[in-house]
Order: sequence, then structure tokens, then C-alpha cells
Amino acid sequence: MAEHVYDTIIIGNGPAGCSASIYAGRAQLDALRLEMGFPGGQVLNTSEVDNYPGIPMRGGMELANDLYEHSARYGLEEKMEQVLRIEDADQPVKKVVSDGGVYETRTVVVAAGAHHRVLGAKGEAKYTGRGVSYCATCDGGFYKDKVCLVIGGGDTAVADALYLSKICRHVYLAVRRGVLRAAGIVAEKVKETENLTILWHTEVLEVLGDKKVTGVRLIQNETKEESELSLDGVFVAVGISPTNELLKDLVKTDEAGFVCTDDYMETSIPGIFAAGDVRVKVLRQIVTAAADGAVAITGVQRYLDKN
Ligand SMILES: Cc1cc2nc3c(=O)[nH]c(=O)nc-3n(C[C@H](O)[C@H](O)[C@H](O)COP(=O)(O)OP(=O)(O)OC[C@H]3O[C@@H](n4cnc5c(N)ncnc54)[C@H](O)[C@@H]3O)c2cc1C
Repeated sequence: MAEHVYDTIIIGNGPAGCSASIYAGRAQLDALRLEMGFPGGQVLNTSEVDNYPGIPMRGGMELANDLYEHSARYGLEEKMEQVLRIEDADQPVKKVVSDGGVYETRTVVVAAGAHHRVLGAKGEAKYTGRGVSYCATCDGGFYKDKVCLVIGGGDTAVADALYLSKICRHVYLAVRRGVLRAAGIVAEKVKETENLTILWHTEVLEVLGDKKVTGVRLIQNETKEESELSLDGVFVAVGISPTNELLKDLVKTDEAGFVCTDDYMETSIPGIFAAGDVRVKVLRQIVTAAADGAVAITGVQRYLDKN
């Protein structure tokens, strides 16, 4: 038996975890923060953020640092460790097992985030942040009157293509198959949008550029014909996966593995909370992750009061 039982353990120092830590600190909870890497989460991979209210046009690194510095002001105990599993999740005292120790706690807030799937095309990694993006809502504003390509055929790709068509001069949508997987009515809208061209049976072989993206090399996968297309931005929309290893066999998730929560961010196991990109939600952004972290601590306090 460990000597100490925390009120809560917050896993992850992205926007959701940082916000949860601010609220936990201000509520004077006895909390431990565990993060396996540098604080900031996906914000570290963002060149510029222009949609967080009150902080226009902030570099990703700087914003990640701001989030962390603010959350560190409350002096919560923290360790740089990777959480491996949660044991006794349904018990009043739960165990969080990391690569550095075993910690006992009455509640857990999992803010482990998500990761965008990559295409794997040549040049994709090289030009990420320099014309290759995984988030149209985040970066679309930088492509006003420019030409962009969206890659994918599902709901996100179609939504991204429609969103960008209102900003860009022209948008191409590269679809690997001959149909869109997106819902019918939205797919019809794409076909009717004047400045949007669907490239059927098309895959991206290479992202081309010098300092920034200048184009792509494509292959028509039926005819095997290769071609080049000049453009300014490439939006990869081939899916996002939750970082759900800690929860996927414990709590209720949707088909894609995103964690189901109630309005207090509580999962199907009382006392286990999920916040940010890891959970089922409509919009995965910094502002919604931060909001989830705040709500999760409200849920934690409610749970602690009742139990
Ligand atoms: C390229 C890119 C650009 C983006 N641009 C914008 C933008 O402009 N505006 C916007 O609002 N949003 C943007 N987003 C989305 C935004 O970054 C995410 O919605 C947000 O970061 C989610 O926050 P989170 O705290 O839920 O998760 P994350 O940011 O993913 O953080 C999760 C943290 O948990 C840690 N972790 C995971 N598993 C463990 C474990 N087992 N043990 C310990 N630690 C663990 C990770 O190391 C990470 O630090 C962008 C995303 C990307 C990838």
C-alpha cells in the first residue's frame, strides 16, 4: 500500500491537462501531474495558432509554454513519466502505474490527447508546418485566395474541403476510391461547389517544394498515370486516432476508440475522467480541450464530495 492517496492524478500536459491542473490547483486539490514528454501536447507541433480567444497569432511553442507556465504556478506535484496502466479503476482507491512508480488516487483525469494519422508520402514530414497541415480549422485561414489540396474521402476530408473552399481560390480533393465515404448530402454539396474539384482514384506520391510546399506528384491509381499539380497547401485528412491505450479496455468508447464521457467528463467508470482530444466530441481544438480540463476538475470535485 502506498503511503499517500491523491485526490486526483492528471495524465497529460497538453491544453486539457494544463487547464485541469489550473483548476485543480485553484481548488487546492492534492493532485499529481504525470506527463511523458515535453509539456504542451500537440500544440508543440503547431507553427502558429490564431484561434485561441484573447491570444491572436501565437507560435505553437510559445503557446505551449504559456499553457504550461500558467499551470505550473499552482505548485502541483509533477513527474515526467509515462503512465502504463490504471489498476483497480472501479475501486474507491485507484492505482496509476507509470514507468517510474505506482500512485494511489481517488480519481484520475486522462488527458492523453490524440494523434493525426499521416499519409506516409515522400516529402510529407519535411513540409509539415511549411504547407502540409493536418487541421483545416486551425490553418485554413493562412491560405486565403490560395490553391490547396485536401487528401481523404471521409467526413473530415469533405468538411475540410468545403471549409477551405470558402477561403481559398481553388480546392482539390484527392480521393483514393471512386466514391466519397462522407454522408450523402455533404458529398453532393462538394460536387456542386464551383471552386472545388474532386480528383477520383488519386493518391499523392510526393509533396514537392523548396522552402515551402509548391505542389504534389499524383498517381491516378486505375490508369497508373502520374502528374504534377502546383499548389500552396496540402491538408491531410485521413483520420485521427485517440491516445487511448490507458482506457480502451476499461471504459466505454465509440467505434474509433474515443472515450465516451458525460457532461462532467466522467467515463463509464465513476471517478475516472477523460478530457480533451481523447474523448468523443465534435471539435478537437485547444479551446475545447482547455474547456474539458476545467469541466473535468468540476466533475472530480463533485465526485470527491459525494464519495
Ligand atoms: C499540426 C496541428 C496543428 C494544430 N493547430 C491548432 C490550432 O491552430 N488551433 C487549435 O485550437 N487547435 C489546433 N490543433 C489541435 C490541438 O492541438 C488539439 O486539439 C489539442 O492539443 C488537444 O489537447 P489535449 O490536451 O486533449 O491533447 P494533446 O495536446 O494531444 O496532449 C496530450 C498529452 O498527453 C501526453 N500523454 C499521452 N499519453 C500519455 C501517457 N501514457 N503518460 C503520460 N503522458 C501521456 C502526451 O505526451 C501529450 O503531452 C492542432 C493540432 C495539430 C496536430
